[in-house]
Amino acid sequence: MIFVASAADAPSTPGAYALALRLGAPLDVRIEKNSATLAAGDYLYCGSARGSGGLRARLARHMRKDKRAHWHVDQLTLAGEIVGAFILEGGDECALNAALSDLPIPVAGFGSSDCRRCAAHLRFWPEGAALPSRWENARKAARCT
Ligand SMILES: [Zn+2]
Repeated sequence: MIFVASAADAPSTPGAYALALRLGAPLDVRIEKNSATLAAGDYLYCGSARGSGGLRARLARHMRKDKRAHWHVDQLTLAGEIVGAFILEGGDECALNAALSDLPIPVAGFGSSDCRRCAAHLRFWPEGAALPSRWENARKAARCT
């Protein structure tokens, strides 16, 4: 696993990622017929990139502000700030999400409409909450480069 701050640093191979997002203010989000308010703070959103351009192309889209909201997570990427992304080449989004099972789920069903395994693909990341050691090591390695 690696941590990247920009899409340009991500590989163009397929794999899974967890976007680290920061909301500076509370945000009202809609998923299907439900709405909820996300508190200000940090979030992790797990997704996968299987198309052409792989992880780099997918992260570049997430980081762009000039787009129409299509996926649930676009509401966060348009309103908030993307701090970076944890990347696992060849990885699986649901496995990444399962590794974060200690973190709370802010909105049931968020980002996981197509998934039968996960209650949501979005996690709230409380300030100071530790991530699994593999994730923390990736963050530390990114800070040194
Ligand atoms: Zn899933």
